[in-house]
Amino acid sequence: MRRYLYVSLAAAFVVIALKLGAWHLTGSVGFLSDALESLVNVVAAGFALLMVAIAGRPPDTDHPYGHTKAEYFSSALEGLLIGVAALGIAAEAVRRLLAPQPVHMVAVGAVLNVAATLINLAVARWMLGGARHLRSIVLEADARHLLADVWTSAGVVLGVLLVPLTGWLWLDPVVGIVVAGHIVGEAWRLVARSVDGLMDRSLPDSDLAEVEQVLGRFRSENLRFDHVRTRRAGTRRFVGMHMHMPAHWSLGRAAACRLQVERALTQHVAGLVVTIEMLPQGQESLQDGGPDAPPTN
Ligand SMILES: [Zn+2]
Repeated sequence: MRRYLYVSLAAAFVVIALKLGAWHLTGSVGFLSDALESLVNVVAAGFALLMVAIAGRPPDTDHPYGHTKAEYFSSALEGLLIGVAALGIAAEAVRRLLAPQPVHMVAVGAVLNVAATLINLAVARWMLGGARHLRSIVLEADARHLLADVWTSAGVVLGVLLVPLTGWLWLDPVVGIVVAGHIVGEAWRLVARSVDGLMDRSLPDSDLAEVEQVLGRFRSENLRFDHVRTRRAGTRRFVGMHMHMPAHWSLGRAAACRLQVERALTQHVAGLVVTIEMLPQGQESLQDGGPDAPPTN
């Protein structure tokens, strides 16, 4: 796993150097924004390494719930930095649009960019194979992102190559603006994802439906579930709930029933951490309405 991430990180540095070289030679904003797009990959690979290192640590006394939320700090920061950089490039592209400038040595720049893109393509295909082998979502997401960048770069090279052929000086800044807009979108997703995680947003509807379906199998005259709450932290998913049962049940019977529910839930939703509070029918915990609250069943 780490081998793949280190290689993709090293490749990304080479790719950025090549793309920055293309920008430096040609003065094309399109090439500059394409280089920034590759910087997103370096950051993504670095972030994946960090996630594997920190989030994979087992819970300890200081962090009894584990370290999976660590990734949110890094992805929020990355999103902000990338977004600001993309906006800066978009501003530069708009300036170029208003005062068009010629691009130079386009052929050499295009060759550098194509070389960089071929490196990306090779690394992406190699990582996709690794992701299938290791069944890693992180690795697969990284590889898919690289593949998407291959298409972006192809579009950029085509657009910039057309500038000297057609004499359309506006084409280069327009390419730059389109790519910068795409990067801002990616940055926004990174930030939104971190905010959702830090704010304990519920699990996606598909997971909630799975939980509901499992609970539905256990619901009966005697068993009722309420106050179902879900959240996620990195790759870990949590669900908490009340299980209401007749007050005369023995603790042993109640615990056996609770275990069945927990087992069914963890079988259906991979990586789910289940917390079940056992309560008699018609009685709630203080935080959920208290003993004086009207019975809900
Ligand atoms: Zn309840």
